Amino acid sequence: MEKISVIVPCYNEEKALPLFYKEMERVRAQDFGITMDFEYIFVNDGSKDKTLEIIKTLCNEDPKVKYISFSRNFGKEAAMFAGLEAATGDYVTLMDADLQDPPALLKQMYEGITVEGYDSVATRRSTRKGEPLIRGFFARMFYKLINKMSDVEMVDGARDYWLMKRQVVDAILSLKEYNRYSKGLFNFVGFNTKWIEYENVKRVAGKTKWSFWKLFKYAIEGITAFSTTPLILSSVVGMIFCLIAFLAIIFIIVKTLVYGDPTTGWPSLACIIVFVSGVQLFSIGIIGQYLSKTYLEVKNRPIYIIKEKNIE
Ligand code: UDP
Ligand code: MG
Repeated sequence: MEKISVIVPCYNEEKALPLFYKEMERVRAQDFGITMDFEYIFVNDGSKDKTLEIIKTLCNEDPKVKYISFSRNFGKEAAMFAGLEAATGDYVTLMDADLQDPPALLKQMYEGITVEGYDSVATRRSTRKGEPLIRGFFARMFYKLINKMSDVEMVDGARDYWLMKRQVVDAILSLKEYNRYSKGLFNFVGFNTKWIEYENVKRVAGKTKWSFWKLFKYAIEGITAFSTTPLILSSVVGMIFCLIAFLAIIFIIVKTLVYGDPTTGWPSLACIIVFVSGVQLFSIGIIGQYLSKTYLEVKNRPIYIIKEKNIE
């Protein structure tokens, strides 16, 4: 019998987890019944509440449930990676614990692979209903920007809710980078992907772990991981400034020869100095971003550290 692995990264999800498990079980029984083997891999990402206890209770009640528990919070990307490494299914899917990735879509996704012949099926939200408007605005800007700069296409509103064939999972696992930006990695590996759209669903319980600042840093992560355009941009801006300076020098020499040299214009000079140092710092900042990512990659630290688990 074939098997589907469901990976659920969990960080402080004590309220949502029981609801998730119930819904997932309902969908499994209704849509797949006895025709399909399942395993649920809950990855406890250093939760500070009762998440781990709840997972362990589920494990005792249901042999399908496996868990991995990290020694601290390593982030959702690390949790997803750990889950992918542990998964043994012929098909693997990633779902949020808050039911924002409806298990009810799973059957349709599964048929996308088995009936329609796709290698993976991805989901995206067609709306951002229930989200702060300003966040939606910045999200759209981000996708516009990153798609201009990167060769890998990023889909606006894409979730991490994918169903993948084993072959695709193995391809993703072969990407061992430390700075993981899954939305990009999934597209980077290629294969035929079917996209399914659905309306944004509100979290069943608990609250989002993503502050605006965290999202901003995640956006920078995405850009540095999948594009070197900012580096080219800072070189181009540098060249343009050299050209402007060169023209200005010629202009000043000619002006001095024609009109003499009264000492005027120091306020404009001050402005120019401030402006140019700003541009310089900005460019150094860009280089610094790439350097810091390289630094982290070179150190070759593990992506996550496991404290306990009940899975090989
Ligand atoms: N999550 C995690 N580690 C973290 C942050 C989040 O494993 O450091 C999990 C979280 O438990 C949830 C999923 O990632 O299952 C998505 O998180 P959340 O719902 O807060 O994000 P949003 O849906 O608001 O983007
Ligand atoms: Mg969520």
